[in-house]
Amino acid sequence: MKIMAVNAGSSSLKFQLLEMPEEKVITSGLVERIGYDNAVFTIKVNGEKVTVTQEILDHKVAVHLVVEGLIKHHIISSLDEIKGVGHRVVQGGEIFKTSAVITDKVVEQIRSLNDLAPLHNPANITGIEAFRKALPEVVQVAVFDTTFHQTMSEDAYLYAAPYEWYKNYGVRKYGFHGTSHQYVSERATKLLNNPEAKVIVCHLGNGASLCAVKAGKSVDTSMGLTPLEGIPMGTRSGNVDPAVLMLIAAKENKTYAEVLDDLNKRSGYLGVSGISNDSRDIVEGMNKGDYRATLAHKIQVKRIADYIGSYYVYMGGLDAICFTAGIGENAPEIRRDVLNAVKVLGITVDPVQNQLRGEREITTKDSKVKGFIIPTNEEVMIARETIRLGKF
Ligand code: ADP
Repeated sequence: MKIMAVNAGSSSLKFQLLEMPEEKVITSGLVERIGYDNAVFTIKVNGEKVTVTQEILDHKVAVHLVVEGLIKHHIISSLDEIKGVGHRVVQGGEIFKTSAVITDKVVEQIRSLNDLAPLHNPANITGIEAFRKALPEVVQVAVFDTTFHQTMSEDAYLYAAPYEWYKNYGVRKYGFHGTSHQYVSERATKLLNNPEAKVIVCHLGNGASLCAVKAGKSVDTSMGLTPLEGIPMGTRSGNVDPAVLMLIAAKENKTYAEVLDDLNKRSGYLGVSGISNDSRDIVEGMNKGDYRATLAHKIQVKRIADYIGSYYVYMGGLDAICFTAGIGENAPEIRRDVLNAVKVLGITVDPVQNQLRGEREITTKDSKVKGFIIPTNEEVMIARETIRLGKF
């Protein structure tokens, strides 16, 4: 059965067509620069990328191109072959404790959360509406970045701020990357052959978050009301004293929104190093002895280790630390230094395994806590949820 996994942004639309339940990718692609006359549509045909540049003024046109492209390139012979579409939605708030079959009511509920994710949810809705128009008979499912974290308890998700902020405006930690944290932690639980396992997932990409998972449930995560909280990232600061906003606004004659933009777009690796938001440039700078690149790396490692220590205590122990996403899967120096920073937990890195790629154990046999690389697969998770809710 063919299931489409969709991730719609404000000017982009990523898709993957999967054969389920085999979890085999049939094709994948991307529409970029939606809204412009030089938009780019890319689709993989027999492993080769086919790219077309043309005017694509809205998501409806983009979706039309995608479904037509599947037929034109003989990937499917008729649209009836697509049995379900799963959509990534960033913010599910407290409304969605699980994925949801999309109805008019569900779309309205997602819209009601726009305030909490103004950059993401409106774009996700645009993608949903375009696919509902293009494939009206097909089951569509919303899979939220936040639902996996809805199992956190109040002590983990509430800020120590006026309680009315939570009651009146929903100010609390929601957490993100839930689909990835769920996929990776499920895989780790299988590798450990222990459904009760205590696992920490380090999703380290441009955006980065950690998640503490106990017996398959998220008990804490590092991102908060927005993806700015937690560990530093490519361009995001992670946690800072909120009083910084007032100080910098006054010193640099900026609005709070502008300072927040600095914390979102000009901080993290980029802000500290002054070189780049890309971990490869940071590692290269560090290897050349660049002071600020080294500092960016050291801060990153310390802050990840801080969270690991805190989750170890909160869960009352730990069985494995898992690395995933662009950096987690590809940067051995960062994995090595993070694991060494928490070696007091009884962790010894296996230097040979740590240099390799793909799913593997990267600690020695006598390590009390195991280290794993587990490549994430959010699309498969979305397709699994679509099948589960579509009741095929
Ligand atoms: P996003 O959050 O945008 O999905 P990714 O998961 O793609 O981000 O991660 C982007 C980060 O992954 C960048 O810092 C990049 O340097 C790093 N990365 C990706 N591929 C490699 C690689 N082959 N070697 C080292 N780092 C990599």
